[in-house]
Amino acid sequence: MPDADPGLLILGGTTEGYALAAALAGQAGLRVISSLAGRTANPRLPAGESRIGGFGGPEGLAAWLREAKITAVVDATHPFANRMGWNAAAACAATGTRLLRLERPAWQPGPGDNWLQVADWEEAAALVGRIAWHVLLALGRQEIAAFAALDHVRFLIRTVDRPDPMPRFVRAELLLARGPFQEDEEYALMRSRGIDTVVCKNSGGTATDGKLAAARRLGIPVVMRQRPPRPETLRATTVAEAVAWVKDVTA
Ligand code: NAP
Repeated sequence: MPDADPGLLILGGTTEGYALAAALAGQAGLRVISSLAGRTANPRLPAGESRIGGFGGPEGLAAWLREAKITAVVDATHPFANRMGWNAAAACAATGTRLLRLERPAWQPGPGDNWLQVADWEEAAALVGRIAWHVLLALGRQEIAAFAALDHVRFLIRTVDRPDPMPRFVRAELLLARGPFQEDEEYALMRSRGIDTVVCKNSGGTATDGKLAAARRLGIPVVMRQRPPRPETLRATTVAEAVAWVKDVTA
């Protein structure tokens, strides 16, 4: 790949990041490099070139962009990865690099939904302590600790990997499972455990989410953590839009 070709950095680790790399890798006249944070031991590698690990803050990223002669950056990190977007905006501004935010749309409440929106897990835990007895925590394993102090609440904790260390819950059942989960199985699970409240975050995505549909059917509230703020940048919600933008700015 000639070094003179325009370079694209994809900040990835998400479905969108992998899909964008797959769509653009091998494109003549473009160098595509994906970056992963390196949180998981054996991450799936994106199509094309990739690198793993932090850059060392916005200054480190700016230096890396200059060194690798990057023309454009697509920030495809997860909606709840709240630092990298700010780093990317600062580094791109400092180096004059084009930046696009690729982000799946947030879920929106519809008729019949009872969503209680919260800004962080502490606010969610305080609310759960007031309104709930039997709670489905559909969170990442590092996000459950704030709920462990609620001794009077029974939790069904569903995570992909076992929390390590596991916070000390008085009444909790751990369910290790990887989605997506269909509405009917979610409905059956919630009914079998007498769940009266669901706690999750607004990851968003194209498919209708099974737990949200099941909560609506059961008429129970969803404590929904909102996405953290992001810098104002140009945005795309689909990989196709991002591909078109990349082709335009690297032509
Ligand atoms: P974060 O809070 O935004 O980032 C923390 C630090 O990790 C950043 O300052 C940066 O270190 C490094 N980093 C993050 N993404 C990176 C990337 N793609 N390439 C290189 N370095 C990266 O992010 P996080 O919540 O820790 O998430 C880490 C990664 O996991 C993200 O790439 C994200 O897409 C993925 N992920 C996160 C979630 C979630 O719920 N948070 C869910 C699924 C996937 P330096 O400052 O040293 O550059």
